[in-house]
Amino acid sequence: MAKKRNYSESFLKYGFVPIVSDGIEKPQCVLCMKVLSVESMKPTKLNRHLETKHNDCKDKDLSSFERKANFLKRSRMDSSGVFQQQNRASVEASFQISLRIAKAKKPHTIAEELILQPAKDINRMLIGKEAESKLNILSLSGNTVQSRISLMSEDIKDQVIDQLKSADPFALQLDESTDVSSCSQLIAFVRYIHNGVMKDEFLCVIALPSRTRVEDSYQTIDTFFRENDIK
Ligand SMILES: [Zn+2]
Repeated sequence: MAKKRNYSESFLKYGFVPIVSDGIEKPQCVLCMKVLSVESMKPTKLNRHLETKHNDCKDKDLSSFERKANFLKRSRMDSSGVFQQQNRASVEASFQISLRIAKAKKPHTIAEELILQPAKDINRMLIGKEAESKLNILSLSGNTVQSRISLMSEDIKDQVIDQLKSADPFALQLDESTDVSSCSQLIAFVRYIHNGVMKDEFLCVIALPSRTRVEDSYQTIDTFFRENDIK
């Protein structure tokens, strides 16, 4: 039987607090709010998340994680409050709009200029001033949109990696391309069976060193697999 893993106070030094989800205690990152699986409740896995996802924070002292943990606990406590609910709806809307921008391959800046402003105009003209001011809580700056898109793409990558780990075997296809600044990029696609369904997924794109021999491509993808614990 698998060993039951419990949260320990010492895990805060990796930036994790406990959260009960589906009746099970799991680790939650105070930096990106991500809830990891119960199997990840051990120092090596938590430290790996910290080093790979938040490398710039890995040398932060404990008090900085404590502050973030307190903020996270406070925001959990009033999760039933009106402010939280409004806040939640506005964050969700901002993610939804960012997803549409990414799918349409449009610049991040159009959210503010060509989505938010016209939406305010429409609300004001068709519904009224109050409806227009409701949109003021929407955060749609270029930076916000960019970070929402990065978060969603990280999440998709994590899901594909999780599915790959449980798929055995899987097929890998590599391609090489050159971007607008003439840098070589390695692109990886995977094919595997998940829950009885054949899936084709884009896995990652990684910049290659200037000389691109077969060995370089192999090295690059091998490092990616090792970093993500894919065997
Ligand atoms: Zn994190």
